[in-house]
This record gives sequence, structure tokens and C-alpha cells, in this order.
Amino acid sequence: INIDYQAIFHEVVDELAGVHDRGEVADYIPGLADVDPNKLGIHLTTIDNQQHSYGDFDERFSIQSISKVLTLTLAMEMIGGDNLWKRVGIEPSGSAFNSLVQLEYERGMPRNPFINAGAIVICDVLVSCLDNPKQDLLDFIRRISGNQTIDYCAKTAEMESETGFRNYALINLMRDFGNIHNDIETVLDLYFYSCSITMSCKELSETFMFLAAYGTNPMLNTVVVNPTRAQRINSIMQLCGFYDEAGEFSFRVGLPGKSGVGGGIIAVHPGRYSVAVWSPRLNKKGNSYKGMLILEGMTTKSQTSIF
Ligand code: GLN
Repeated sequence: INIDYQAIFHEVVDELAGVHDRGEVADYIPGLADVDPNKLGIHLTTIDNQQHSYGDFDERFSIQSISKVLTLTLAMEMIGGDNLWKRVGIEPSGSAFNSLVQLEYERGMPRNPFINAGAIVICDVLVSCLDNPKQDLLDFIRRISGNQTIDYCAKTAEMESETGFRNYALINLMRDFGNIHNDIETVLDLYFYSCSITMSCKELSETFMFLAAYGTNPMLNTVVVNPTRAQRINSIMQLCGFYDEAGEFSFRVGLPGKSGVGGGIIAVHPGRYSVAVWSPRLNKKGNSYKGMLILEGMTTKSQTSIF
């Protein structure tokens, strides 16, 4: 089936023109607070390499928590799922992305790899098994996207560290429970680095193609993970990709996806496409307000919810 996603994007954006864009841009660091709130980018790549785009699809922004999928993917490749799932769970948290409460009950084991606590444990795993964790992560992203220009923002990484008191609290609590094995500064350094990676919607949709295509980036013919692993990462995104709004995203959009406080969302339809949207105003749960509406409209009009 040939769906004209590009036309659908225009329709959806037109329909949303009358909708007041609620929410605020993340303002805890300058690099995010300074972004023009009216930016709007969309890019969809089909598994047979048709490209559909809209607006600011080519402009880079801070991918923030979308990077949690990439660090998880690399960690699964490094130590395998069986070892990983002893350190971090695969259950939805139903709590805010930076919440501390469940860690106390679960003895330092984060509910899943897509909340801050879980991603920090994943970074600890990467620090244990990589020689140059930051560079190795960046090289991995460049390899799976086929794009050697992808980079991080040093200023954002520095500011994340200066304002990251909750992340320090999370790692210290987990360290007390024995679930952090490396130096706290080194682990958080990698975590903040991963949050500060910048990509455009186009680059995101190309990077995440492997999750739409059973583990292989079809454009590059690069095997990223095996098909079972791709399935598993998608299932975790489906249940845990939007913190305490994962149910809402699943209900309205019907795709596995992951958001970040930079206003980006990546979502995939296994067997069909990978799509990224960027709209910086966030709702109360820290997910892109308009981004969710656009994806809802897109899957509704194209009838491509996985359900
Ligand atoms: N840098 C943010 C943090 O660690 C990332 C959170 C997010 O994108 N939800 O708090």
C-alpha cells in the first residue's frame, strides 16, 4: 500500500492550527529554554526508503530521553538481555521520569530502562564494558544511522550536570542498594552526554529504522540487533516510552515510541516506517504536546496504529 504521509502531515498540521499549543518549553537549562517554541518538524521514512517530511525536519535539537533507547540497544549488544534484566526491570512505572519513590520499594532496581533511574543503570553497564563510553556510544549511533556528522552539545551536557540534582539523588540511592558498580561521576557523565546528543527529525527517523525493520537498517544493510531484540525493544517502548503517559500514547497513537524533554518523539511501525516529530512545548508529563497530537492524527488518517 502506498500512503501519502506527506499529504497527511499537511492535513493534520492544518487541522491543529486552531488548537492552542499548550505547555511550556523545558526551561531547566539554557540550551532547552532558548529554543523557539514554535518549531515544528516531522519526518517519516518507510522501510522501502520513501521520505516524507514537514517543516523544521532538518534542524537539530536535543534528543534528551530518546537517547535512552540507543543506550539500551548498545547495552543489550554488549552484555545480552539475561544479564541486563537482573539490573533493570521491564515494567511500566506509571511515575514521573525522574521519580525516586519506586527505587526504595524495589531495592534499587529501576522499573524499566526508559526512566532516568533505568537509563543511569544502563550507563553504568556501558561504563563497565566500554573503553571510551562516550565516544563508543557516539560511534555506535553514527554507524547505525550511516551519518558521521551526528554529535553532542558540550554546553548542554555541562548544564545537565550542573542542574542534575535529582539524577545525583537517583544514582546515590541505587549505589547504596548495590546496583551501581562504577564511579558515580563517570556514569553520570555518560548519562548527561547521551541526553545532550542533537539530531534532526530526519536523522532520528533514519537512526531508528532498525526498529521498524526487524533489527536491520535497510538503507545501509547494517544489522543493528537481531529480530527478537528489535521486538523486545519495541515492546518496552510500547509500555514504558512515555513515563506516566505511556497508556495515553498507546491509546491515542498506537505505536511503540519514545519521547524526550527537548520536544522530540520517535515512533515506529514494525514492518512499515519510522517517524520523528519535534515540537518543543511539553505537556505536564514532559512529553511534546503537539507531537502527540500530530502522531495521533497521522496514525488515525493513515490507519497505521499497530492495533
Ligand atoms: N536530561 C533530562 C533529565 O535527565 C532528560 C529527561 C527527559 O528527556 N525526560 O532529567
